[in-house]
Amino acid sequence: MRRKLAAGNWKMNGTAANLAELEALKSLMPVDAPDVLICPPAPLLFRAHEVAGDTGIQIGAQDCHNHESGAFTGDISATMIADTGATHVIVGHSERREAYEEHDSDIRKKAKAAWAAGLTAVICIGESGDDHEANNTLEIIAGQLAGSLPDATSATNTVIAYEPIWAIGTGKVPTLEQIVQVHDFIRAKIITRFGAEIGDMIPLLYGGSVKPDNAATIFEAENVDGALVGGASLKAADFAPIIEALAAS
Ligand code: PEP
Repeated sequence: MRRKLAAGNWKMNGTAANLAELEALKSLMPVDAPDVLICPPAPLLFRAHEVAGDTGIQIGAQDCHNHESGAFTGDISATMIADTGATHVIVGHSERREAYEEHDSDIRKKAKAAWAAGLTAVICIGESGDDHEANNTLEIIAGQLAGSLPDATSATNTVIAYEPIWAIGTGKVPTLEQIVQVHDFIRAKIITRFGAEIGDMIPLLYGGSVKPDNAATIFEAENVDGALVGGASLKAADFAPIIEALAAS
């Protein structure tokens, strides 16, 4: 059985006051909860880890530098992230790929840095709206998988998040058929590259406008093992039903 994961990406939202949402989430966790991950802004990592306590809610960062330390003003390393008690780091989010011109080769290095620090890398891939319209989705995804995933990818060091860029923060969601097609394609690609034992066990998340009212449908897809959630992870009252839908899937 693959592990299921509900991951929340708070992006650049929240100060210490917002940790009240994490506190509230603790009391809303279903009995048979899947893995739950909250990725707050970096200044909140340590406090978020303390608030999560022994609930099993894991804490992750939203990005890391690919070096362990050095003259990189403003950056944080995977080692520093692990030092806060965090267990995961998102790498290759489309907002980083676009705004900071991060390429597959950068993401591959960051994933390796994450592993070296003992973190699980949540590696994001996804096509633009133009590529979606032009029916280039599978070609783009194949290229990103080949370029972003290091050779030592395993089911314990990596989670893959498929996030069509045109669905992020827009309220637009691919049809279930489209999600199934892409996730089945990703599964086949990683089985071919890493072998069935690894490729079949790597969790595949869907991300892009996941909300309480569409989560259950998205989780019907066999190769959707959870979600990477932006806006709807900011409020415990929105994120909890998504976690429940995943638990019930
Ligand atoms: C995201 O930022 O990864 C994301 C999926 O955002 P949203 O859920 O708001 O579309």
